Parts: sequence; structure tokens; C-alpha cells
Amino acid sequence: MSLSTGIVGLPNAGKSTLFNALTRTPVEASNYPFCTIDPNVAVVEVPDLRLLHLSALLSPDSTISTAIQFTDIAGLVRGAANGEGRGNEFLFHIRKTDALLHVIRCFEDASVSHVEEGGLVPVRDAEVVEAELLLSDLEVAERNLAALDKVVKSDPRSSRQVEAEGLRRVQTSLQDGQPVSSVELNDAEEVALRAYQFLSAKSSLFVANVAEKDLPDGGAGAQALQQSFGENRVLVISAQIEAEIAQLDDAEVKRAFLGELGLDRSGLDRLISRTYELLDLITFYTTANGKLQAWQLPAGTTCPVAAGRIHSDMETGFIRAEVAAATDLEEVAGELTRLREQGKLRTEGRDYPIRDGDVVTFLFK
Ligand code: GDP
Repeated sequence: MSLSTGIVGLPNAGKSTLFNALTRTPVEASNYPFCTIDPNVAVVEVPDLRLLHLSALLSPDSTISTAIQFTDIAGLVRGAANGEGRGNEFLFHIRKTDALLHVIRCFEDASVSHVEEGGLVPVRDAEVVEAELLLSDLEVAERNLAALDKVVKSDPRSSRQVEAEGLRRVQTSLQDGQPVSSVELNDAEEVALRAYQFLSAKSSLFVANVAEKDLPDGGAGAQALQQSFGENRVLVISAQIEAEIAQLDDAEVKRAFLGELGLDRSGLDRLISRTYELLDLITFYTTANGKLQAWQLPAGTTCPVAAGRIHSDMETGFIRAEVAAATDLEEVAGELTRLREQGKLRTEGRDYPIRDGDVVTFLFK
């Protein structure tokens, strides 16, 4: 499983420029069987210093990072939910993603036209796209509720009552212009509604695509977005600069270039760490059969479920896990016997929630 994100935004917001910059170095597809072969989809490795350190320490035969899949979704315009542009075709593609990156144009450039009248107004552009997502969800909710209502009315004891009740509240919320994420659902309703893959239930990050002169803070457009949507939901990036950075192969030259712009990390790095925070994801590591591998996991996931990420047999046959923190392993230069003496190689059972940076060996039947 990989984290999959959809890049949305109005035409000429800079989506493709960003997508091309982010995905300039695609990964070896054979390591990631989930890879979709599609020109608008690319998988990139998640930069991970801890993994580099572990790899240097343990000298495995192979080292595999986690990955993020980006899908560039073109064709979103005002009226998309009603089938304008490529309309529903594109909306279908983003239903499958874990998170949305919503790119908003904040750069002035007379040679790049605006699809919306009235020139550069980032908050308006953002609202146009957000409204389309809500409208699309409302259409899904209304269509399904009509059918579901017939089922539950004809059979008051139907197991789908929970789903119908949840869907009704989702519909009311959407009619009031509120996203599905704002609806309070109990666990049963949450499970019953998962398959609908509502767009406005997804975590999303606004990406303010600003001119070079507005780095690193973002300028007026990005600030307006931060005021409207909250500071921590807006990431300032210059897609054009990211495209230039992506051309640089030399790490030192890259660092110096970023430094001149007042940035400490590339947009890709910042985007990935913000997406991890947004989705409350952690990374853990396994070393088995000469393979060091990093895995993504929602924070709080227990041992057996984490083991199931690797292989379903490991979840059903889970016995226990041997766990060490990557930092502790580094301190003893990878010597497990020393770690055990220090009591830092722990044995954990079914209820242990894997922590960020854990190095785990699963024992299973
Ligand atoms: P998309 O339709 O959202 O995929 O937008 P594109 O990435 O194709 O960008 C549309 C146009 O805007 C292209 O000509 C880009 O070169 C240009 N563009 C994208 N980002 C920037 C930027 O940060 N500054 C400037 N000046 N132009 C940009």
C-alpha cells in the first residue's frame, strides 16, 4: 500500500508544473506493485534520513523506502460536478486517493490566462474548486439515498439502516455547504459510508503556487488563503522554482540554491512531511532476509495490523514482535546483543501501537 494523493486545482494553477517537478525521478516500479501505469500518475520515494542511516549501519542487500503516488488531475472547472470540462471522469479518479493537494494560483503572469474572470483572486479560485467537490459529493449522496430509502422503508430491520441514517446526515450537511469531514459519524456509520469515498471527507492541503519573489513567506495571495482556510492547511510553494530545482543533480548546488531563496528544504520534502502530518502517518522499518524496508502506517496502528501490511499471513498468525527504536539501534552501531543488554530491544504483543521510527521483527505462525 502506498499513500496516494490527487493534485487538483483550476486550469493554469500550475498543477502539471508541480507534478512534473515532484515526479522527475520516478521509482523503480517493480518495488511497488500498486503502481498504476498512467502518464498522470507517478510514484516517488519518500526522502528518509533515518532509513539512510539504518542502511549505512546494517548494510542490507537492498533498501526500500516508502513511496507516495501522485495523480495529476486535469479538467476541473466551474461546473465540473455537472459534467463541465472532463467533469465526472476526473472526479472519479480522485475518489480513490487518500488525500488531496489543492493547487491554487498565486502568481501574476500576463502570458498565462485565468479561467475565472476578475484576475488573480486565490481565495475565489479555491472556493470554486471546493464547491465542485461538495456538489459532486451531494450528487452521490442524493442518488444513493434515493435508492437506499426504498430498501430501508420496505424492510425496517434492514442492516442498511445505519448507512441510511449516516447518509441522510451527510446529505443535510452538504446541502448546507459543509464538507463530509464536518459530519459527526459514529464508528458503525463511518464504516458503512466508507465505500462512498466522499471527496470532502478526505484530508486536503492547499498548495499556494507563488511567484519566486514571494518566497519564502508567500505574499498577499498565500496570506489570504491562510486567513480563509487556516495557516497550517496552506503550503507555500513555487512550482516553477521546484521545476528548476528538479533539474539540479548536485546536492550541494541544490542546497545553495534553496538557501538563496530562504528555504531549507525543497517543496517535495515539505509537501511530503506536511502530508504525513495531515494524515497522521508514521514510518516503521523491517529488516528481514537482507532487505531493509520502510513502511507507512496511520499512527496508533497495533502490531498485528502493521504485520498485515507486509503479509496477511503475518496478521492472522501474529505471535509477538521484537521492537527497537531506530535511534537506539544507531547508538549501539546496530549490535542487537548490546541493545538487549540495555533492555532496549523490547518484546511487544498484540496491543502495542507501533511508534514512528520503530525497527520491528514480527514473529508469526
Ligand atoms: P495546470 O493547468 O494547472 O496543470 O498548469 P500548468 O502547470 O500547465 O501551468 C500553466 C502555465 O503557468 C504554464 O505556462 C506554466 O509554465 C506557468 N506557471 C506554472 N507555475 C508558475 C509559476 O510559479 N510562475 C509563473 N510565472 N508561471 C507559472
